[in-house]
Amino acid sequence: MNWITRIRSAAERIKTAVRKRASKAEIAASKYISCHGVPVEKKIIEQNNFVCPECNKHHLMSPSQRFNMMFGENNWKKINSQMVKDPDVYNWVDTKKYTDRLKEAKKITGQDNAILSCESKINDIDVVVSAVNFRFIGGSISMDEGENVLASVQTAIDKKCPYIFVSASGGMRMMTNMLSLMQMTRMTIAINELRKNNLPYIVVITNPTTGGLSASIVSTSDICIGEGGNQGGATFAFAGRRIVETTTKGELPTDFQTVSWQQSKGQVDMVLDRKDITHTIGTLLSILLKKHKSENIEENNSLIKDPVQENKEAS
Ligand SMILES: [Zn+2]
Repeated sequence: MNWITRIRSAAERIKTAVRKRASKAEIAASKYISCHGVPVEKKIIEQNNFVCPECNKHHLMSPSQRFNMMFGENNWKKINSQMVKDPDVYNWVDTKKYTDRLKEAKKITGQDNAILSCESKINDIDVVVSAVNFRFIGGSISMDEGENVLASVQTAIDKKCPYIFVSASGGMRMMTNMLSLMQMTRMTIAINELRKNNLPYIVVITNPTTGGLSASIVSTSDICIGEGGNQGGATFAFAGRRIVETTTKGELPTDFQTVSWQQSKGQVDMVLDRKDITHTIGTLLSILLKKHKSENIEENNSLIKDPVQENKEAS
């Protein structure tokens, strides 16, 4: 075998390996998922609120699936918001037309834009919740998403109830450039209005939350809950790990930019498994709004620790 034959046979082996790798469509159509190196039936993960019972990986969940989990099947009312007349102001084309990407995202998710918002109740307390769908162009934020947040915050103000934001985003939508970046300011102003009305604002950070959303509405909450899971839980960052690594030229810890790591730096108040989030929000809201129900009193008391008693115990 001469060197030309050897290279040809190596090239054939590479081609075969590449061909064997499943495509995105094949992965989506498969009944199985492999999050810890062993195939698990998707159905089992779905029945467990999209959390792997073996490795505790918290898989992506759409806003409607999350609302069903939080409030019960269809026990929530969608909040509608205005849609901009021309979403493609810059006539953006990259590998695809932006208008085609939008059409595809709407078809995949069944949503008008990346954010779905609703009204419902937790512990008999009225709440307004917005959640980002990462499958809608990477959960990126543009004008329609900004409008949705504004409409939802206004609903919370009108109903005098708390606002909850469940994040998952790659950042602002580059296809709409400055008009997208402007939404960071608009959403922050909306949260300030909520604050002026003394209404609680809780953020739930799910995987992944990065870019402009981290730098605006996510970082201005009263209480910040990180969704846990394996390997430190959800990613919560502004710039990604590789960018930081290249810039600092230093070694980064394995759990860098996870919610657990951010909690150790004071950026996140608590890290909870998905199944515990709604219940904890309910308890927190009953404390903040002084709506103690008899069954919550004991639990609330255990959360509100007496600092004097704590000091005594410590000494
Ligand atoms: Zn797993």
